[in-house]
Amino acid sequence: MSIERTAQKVRSGERVTSAEALELYRGAPTALLGSLADAVRQRKHPNRVVSYIIDRNVNYTNVCVAKCTFCAFYRDVGSSEGYVLGFDELFRKIDETIAVGGVQVLLQGGHNPDLPLKWYEDLFRAIKERYPSFRLHALSPPEIIHLSRLSQLPVPAVIERLIAAGLDSVPGGGAEILVDRVRRLLHCYGKASADEWLDVMRHAHRFGLRTTATMMYGTVETDEERIEHLTRLRDLQDETGGFTAFIAWSYQPDHTELAGSEATGIDYLRTLATARIVLDNFDNLQASWVTQGGKVGQLSLAYGANDMGSVMIEENVVRAAGASYCMDEAEIVRNIEDAGFIPKRRNMHYEILGDPIFRERDVPRMLELATARADGDTSVPAELRLYPARSRSGKHARNGSLSRGLDTAD
Ligand code: SF4
Repeated sequence: MSIERTAQKVRSGERVTSAEALELYRGAPTALLGSLADAVRQRKHPNRVVSYIIDRNVNYTNVCVAKCTFCAFYRDVGSSEGYVLGFDELFRKIDETIAVGGVQVLLQGGHNPDLPLKWYEDLFRAIKERYPSFRLHALSPPEIIHLSRLSQLPVPAVIERLIAAGLDSVPGGGAEILVDRVRRLLHCYGKASADEWLDVMRHAHRFGLRTTATMMYGTVETDEERIEHLTRLRDLQDETGGFTAFIAWSYQPDHTELAGSEATGIDYLRTLATARIVLDNFDNLQASWVTQGGKVGQLSLAYGANDMGSVMIEENVVRAAGASYCMDEAEIVRNIEDAGFIPKRRNMHYEILGDPIFRERDVPRMLELATARADGDTSVPAELRLYPARSRSGKHARNGSLSRGLDTAD
């Protein structure tokens, strides 16, 4: 009976409480949850448009001191498998992205103690100088906190410097579940507590940046904690209005320290639908087909999602944990149209840029995911020796490359 009362509230556009959201998530039939989420989507997006963005997900380094137990991507400082991409490698990736109609790069990486703030500023400036209209959607809140600690500057000062260098928007990664009990268990409390993550976003919004928000569910959190995550995001959105979109994905367990099993497709759809209902002040919800596959991605459009996220040209993080689906623009468009929607290209602000670009001009098909680095490529970018390293192995490597560089110059 009370589920029906809450359903009625959702249909009439009233906000649901945490307790009501929990009851819906736990007890409502999946078809009812889907129809309620779909009603919210239709209210916000009545024109049946489903958007997507052409961009590239680039992980500039896999070296990380945070060591989250759910992560299969990172390598320890000094590991022979650790890498940092060079500026020229990044330019090549941007050239390939522009060739398929891309408008931005999503740049995220590990917390590498040997990359000072100046490296990021120089990289951003170099990208903007070469590609003035290309957008930098870069550095999730924990990376910004890492830079704040490394540079001993407050978070707002780091954000200001990054904006001055060319930062356009902040991706919502590293949120996992915004409850400190969960974050401690996942060994990610040290990289950012729930309050710290939210505070970076608060500052970014105050500086006029738009950001996304994410949730990685299916590890050790309770149902109540999943809902708490959503209401914390809703509260901050009430305060700042700076979030453009919400993206949920399920924990991918392969090759991680935490191990365990993956949440099911039904759990994903129920979580997505609940998020659509709770996050009444978010305009956009993305379908997470990268972890769920194209078919569940299509179903997401009936469970509250109105956006298919990014064309996937390159993926390193999810692939390291055992899942990765590849869809270029033609495949994303096929999935959207087959589900009965109208596909439109967008930018990070969710402004519509136009119809599918592959229908306007020839673009190369991308049928295989690129990687950050080719297997076995252990090259060290030449410009790294210009930046002081903090770790012992980093200092050693840079001193070595510095003297080798001088030898060569002589
Ligand atoms: S999730 Fe990010 S911060 Fe955590 S270990 Fe992996 S790369 Fe590092």
